Amino acid sequence: SIPPSQESQTSLTDSDLLLVGLHEESSSESKDDGSYAAKKRRTVPLYLYRWGYLCVTDICSQSWCEQQMVYTYAPPGDVEVVESAQMKKGATMHKERELEVHDIVPIKVTSAEDSWAVKLLNMIAQVTMLQRGQQCVREIHVFGEPFDMGIFIVGVIDELRYSDNGHFELLDFKTRGSKSVPSKAQQRKEGIQVGLYKRLFDDLVLGKLKKESILKHLKRSPDKPLGEEIIEYGKNVGIACTTFGELLDMALLLMAHSDIPCIDSLKIEYRYQDDDDSFMTKPVEYNDKMMRRELGHYFDFWKGDREVEGVQIEEAWKCGKCPYADLCEWRQKKEAEIQSQLLHK
Ligand code: SF4
Repeated sequence: SIPPSQESQTSLTDSDLLLVGLHEESSSESKDDGSYAAKKRRTVPLYLYRWGYLCVTDICSQSWCEQQMVYTYAPPGDVEVVESAQMKKGATMHKERELEVHDIVPIKVTSAEDSWAVKLLNMIAQVTMLQRGQQCVREIHVFGEPFDMGIFIVGVIDELRYSDNGHFELLDFKTRGSKSVPSKAQQRKEGIQVGLYKRLFDDLVLGKLKKESILKHLKRSPDKPLGEEIIEYGKNVGIACTTFGELLDMALLLMAHSDIPCIDSLKIEYRYQDDDDSFMTKPVEYNDKMMRRELGHYFDFWKGDREVEGVQIEEAWKCGKCPYADLCEWRQKKEAEIQSQLLHK
């Protein structure tokens, strides 16, 4: 994959601006009208805990401990989970890194469709930046229905860039409180995260994601008129759309017909929180079969086809760091099973 131009850009231009939506309107999709769909929403985890679609971070948390992920949405009791200083520092470093390559423009959004229009306009802007020769873009929204398995996922890629040898790379950025190699379990979780980003992005550039899938899963109306500020901003950057459906058509078309390739390689860069030192970059192998298998298992839970699972005995060390450990039903069940096995020996 060869970048359109090898010029590097160091200064911000008009296209180096990304939008951030203000005053988002909440979606009305959770209204309970007594219908079959409303009943389904009350019982299926995908609707019970989320809005009928997932974020990549849900899948990452699920790969760590599914039960713990469920407890973050439905705590088993009065458990206070506080954001650690390390997490706050990581979020600040992420933001600083994002602002190295673009500025943020606040824009008023008046509907749920407008909020998605912001994501689409940013995606269009970033693809345009890459096509014009910019070497790297950051915070790229991706979304789709991986492997057509009926679950829609949205996420944000940290960075896409052309390497010196012309490869189109995805870089995920992790910060650490020590210069140590992450545990195997951590690396597995990170591998699933970047693999899922690749699957979603590649499906967009291959034209596999259909407009109908987006509208169905997000429950957005294609005829919804876009807000004034969104229309105005679109005009200024050469996108003349007045409805959400028009903008969606344009974004999908642009992704599928751009000369941006599928992602060639995946990397995770680790930075030390004390001095921002980039102390390790690890490549991640993408395995399509493995990804399909893993996601299939995770999706079964979201669709209500199987019960929630906690960690297996080999990974019980995770429970030691879990805020829900004292109240965890999975853990209590496993401990009871072990006790019973010991008694019957
Ligand atoms: Fe998962 Fe263990 Fe926490 Fe239970 S105690 S939620 S099994 S990590």
